[in-house]
Amino acid sequence: MRFQIDAHDPHSLARAGRLYTAHGVLRTPVFIASATHATIKGLAPEEVAHAGIQIVAVNGYHLWLRPGIELIQKAGGVHKFMRWKRPILSDSGGFQVFSLARSRTITRKGVRFQSHIDGSPRFMTPDVSIEAQSALGTDIAMIFDECVAYPSPREYVEESVEVTLDWARRSKAAHSNPHQHLFGIIQGGTFEDLRRRSAEETVKIEFPGYALGGLSVGEPRDDMLRVIQATLPYLPEDRPRYVMGVGTPTDILACVRLGIDVFDCVLPNKNARHGSLFTSHGMVKIKNARFKEDERPLDRHCDCEACTKYTRAYLRHLWMAEEPFGSRLLTLHNLRHYAAFMERVREGIAAGTLSRMHVAEGRAD
Ligand SMILES: [Zn+2]
Repeated sequence: MRFQIDAHDPHSLARAGRLYTAHGVLRTPVFIASATHATIKGLAPEEVAHAGIQIVAVNGYHLWLRPGIELIQKAGGVHKFMRWKRPILSDSGGFQVFSLARSRTITRKGVRFQSHIDGSPRFMTPDVSIEAQSALGTDIAMIFDECVAYPSPREYVEESVEVTLDWARRSKAAHSNPHQHLFGIIQGGTFEDLRRRSAEETVKIEFPGYALGGLSVGEPRDDMLRVIQATLPYLPEDRPRYVMGVGTPTDILACVRLGIDVFDCVLPNKNARHGSLFTSHGMVKIKNARFKEDERPLDRHCDCEACTKYTRAYLRHLWMAEEPFGSRLLTLHNLRHYAAFMERVREGIAAGTLSRMHVAEGRAD
């Protein structure tokens, strides 16, 4: 994998670069938008691309259960199936197996569980996960890992780190798709020494990129940042670093300053569906009565369709009437907000002005 660092921030460990994939070059730091079921709810791929989203993430676990990997493979791979021309990352399904599946049993071989859709018995192993992701034809695949819940006893996390290391080796051995980059995942909960072991051993297996998993799962924010800061020195500087499941713009900016290059989070999509919008002046709850007759745009600094064409009063009306168009416009806005935010982060690194950048927190007026 070619990963080129173009600029370093003089005041932090932030870096800006380019990550080359089979479907194009990603400008880092980059935010990956969630397209779990091979769609961003309510939006056409062209709209998502137009919003400035460079890469989306589909989920191996969900697509494996429905519609099935073979069907997507027959359709020519997930890019063709969903008509998204830019890079795609697939998650191995580790997180979903541990958060969604019913009655699961973990062994060194893999995880036996019941599908959360129809209760059918399933057995997910590193080999099954890697084969599935390879058949999907994604640009970046993730090793199959165990994502430990927070909080978990140290003994459990210690054992789990060994399981994930074992699965990392098997994932790499099973991986043969030359057009796809397979990333390793560092686990270890909030224990710095276990994170160090996980990082050092995973780096020995050698992957073109490394992710930090099992964060943003309910631990205090300070713990998350402490763990990232303590782990990054054990990861090679010339490989992309990805923190999974993070986060708000505030958290992303903090992680960028620690040296993280890649992020993914369901937050912009999910919050939009709950009427909660990220704006340049803070969070906006569109259902709030004070927007009833508000003729102003949602965010005058935003160039998305929702902000350039419609008023807060109209967006609130759509929301109150539960019109699908409302949810669509709000999702588009949140994605554009994230993409534009990442553009400013990259510009800030290149110009050496990142230290002056801040995120408006709390509720907007
Ligand atoms: Zn907007």
